[in-house]
Amino acid sequence: MKTIHVSTGSPYDIMIERGILDNCGEIIKKLSNAEKITIVTDTNVAPLYKWRVLNSLSQQGYQTTAHVFQAGEQSKNLNTIADIYDTLADFKMTRKDLIVALGGGVTGDMAGFAAAVYLRGIKYIQIPTTLLSQVDSSVGGKTAVDLPQGKNLCGAFHQPALVVIDPDVLSTLPPHYFSDGMGEVIKYGCIKSASLFDAVQNRDAHEYIEDVIYECVDIKRGVVERDEKEAGERALLNFGHTAGHAIEKLHNFTGISHGEAVGIGMVMISKAGESAGITEPGTAEKITAVLKKYNLKTEDENSLSDIISAMAFDKKSTDAGINFIMLSKIGSSFIKPVATADIKKLFGVEA
Ligand code: NAD
Repeated sequence: MKTIHVSTGSPYDIMIERGILDNCGEIIKKLSNAEKITIVTDTNVAPLYKWRVLNSLSQQGYQTTAHVFQAGEQSKNLNTIADIYDTLADFKMTRKDLIVALGGGVTGDMAGFAAAVYLRGIKYIQIPTTLLSQVDSSVGGKTAVDLPQGKNLCGAFHQPALVVIDPDVLSTLPPHYFSDGMGEVIKYGCIKSASLFDAVQNRDAHEYIEDVIYECVDIKRGVVERDEKEAGERALLNFGHTAGHAIEKLHNFTGISHGEAVGIGMVMISKAGESAGITEPGTAEKITAVLKKYNLKTEDENSLSDIISAMAFDKKSTDAGINFIMLSKIGSSFIKPVATADIKKLFGVEA
């Protein structure tokens, strides 16, 4: 088993091992004196993995229940949170009890948010089941739900008490979602690790996915330890996201995945960086090649000026401008504040 310790304000371990799902009860027992555990999961993951987790927890004497919601981003809202609170309150969960998030990023973000607020905060454990959630969303304590006005607008920082990663569960993940997670893996390579970038370019990530997960999680660990609440360095994790969010919005969040949109965003900002003499020439081409290798998109049918206009409404933009994450070269990133008046120029679009 590989273990990574995260030294945030509330520290926790991340455990990575094939088949660990069946031992999660034993592992949880070592860190929690909870009597009751509610598993939050979705309608796709429940039939695949819920019973394995429930059995493992029951073997350790926990009283358990499960809250299963309709799979998909459209469920990531306050109505589902209210339903989860009903389950927690009906089950008479107390402050010492636990929530287990079993699923992808949607499940983790919602279960974490429910845990942050129920009884003013109870502990939760992440058991991520998509590549995206294993390499990214289960670590770092960002929890949220969407509002009709936008994605992730209502949330809290609430670190998990433990993250249990079983790479074997990826065997049932539809290939499209594997690609999506690879978008985030490629992002880590771009911002922090040229060796990770080269490795996923030169080898098939499926063949050594456990090592890929370990390396990504370790990069995220370092970033969130140094900047838990995104006052600085943590923003580097948003590489490609400003343009990516704009593209998702232009598609009304349908027909294009987050990973695809972020991939296009990474290429866009790298091309802009190369034109401005900030980014090493050839970087955008390298990113394009690796995105294609993992069946991700590299360009969008919307015009550059439409994408730039949509960026203006990004939640991370201010009246003064946008903090773009840029690369000096693969593996090396920095934050570049760009004034609103200069954004079009950066992307080579006539003002
Ligand atoms: P998701 O949770 O909707 O999972 C994608 C799909 O895969 C769903 O249909 C799900 O039911 C299914 N699924 C999950 N595991 C499976 C498995 N092992 N086998 C078969 N099917 C499986 O979405 P996601 O892509 O994991 O996460 C996207 C969400 O993560 C977004 O809401 C995004 O905002 C959030 N996110 C959060 C953070 C953070 O730091 N908190 C970071 C990145 C993304």
